[in-house]
Amino acid sequence: MPELPELEAISKYLTKKLSGEIVARFDTFFHTVIRFPDTKTIQTLLVGARLEKVSRKGKLMVFQFRSIDTYLHLCIDHGLIGRFAWEKVKAPAKTVLRLKFQSGSSLIYHDRRLHGAIWLFHGTNKENTLFPSKVRNYGPDILTISLDEFKSRIRQYRGEIKGVLTKQEFVTGIGNAYADEILFNARIHPFTKRTNLSSSEIERLYKSCTSILGHGVSEITNWLFTTDKIDNQRFWRKELFRIHLRGEQPCYNCGKSISSIKANRRITNFCRTCQTSRNKNFI
Ligand SMILES: [Zn+2]
Repeated sequence: MPELPELEAISKYLTKKLSGEIVARFDTFFHTVIRFPDTKTIQTLLVGARLEKVSRKGKLMVFQFRSIDTYLHLCIDHGLIGRFAWEKVKAPAKTVLRLKFQSGSSLIYHDRRLHGAIWLFHGTNKENTLFPSKVRNYGPDILTISLDEFKSRIRQYRGEIKGVLTKQEFVTGIGNAYADEILFNARIHPFTKRTNLSSSEIERLYKSCTSILGHGVSEITNWLFTTDKIDNQRFWRKELFRIHLRGEQPCYNCGKSISSIKANRRITNFCRTCQTSRNKNFI
């Protein structure tokens, strides 16, 4: 699943490449992914509109267009494996939509499992009332909050820290993979209860969030502008991750074998030596 660094980098990249472009065509091939309104209405509204910017709201990608008398927001939820790509000769299987511009640039969105969702809202800047309810309940973006706000928000949660970090109502943008990276960097065991974390550990966790995610954004942004390959997440992850998906490999820090635990269809990787647990009940 794409997380904050990938989405932030892609939104910067697409804004730079496409802002000012006029939509020539909008085609969809799997209508079940279109949530609101319907394909025909989206086509009518979007064709002729000018793309102003692409931004990210939590894990949602938002394309903001200006048409004659209104703003249009095309919102795409990637689901688990949705990806953007530049259209080449042969579109990938399960291409959900194609956004073709008058200049000839053609952006596609493909989603092999069709778990994603697409909405188009029009209106002024009243974004909060226009977004779907699950997005309205998102907490603030992790990269925009202060340490004090982080501390006061996290007090509302009592569960295991990895679960807390990935709760989008707490803060948005952190998923399974980067939660492992953040916790490894902060030397905190992923299954420690939030209530067992000291004030200095919470502070370390906040700093780790901003440094790991910030580093990811800048590395992926540089890579995108160099290669134009927006759909190659395998590369980013292999290059950036020090713990996630490295189960049984030697720890980057201490050399001991990295642990791997699968629960609720999510893999958690951590180092039992570097990330000590205060939770005595843990296995
Ligand atoms: Zn280690």
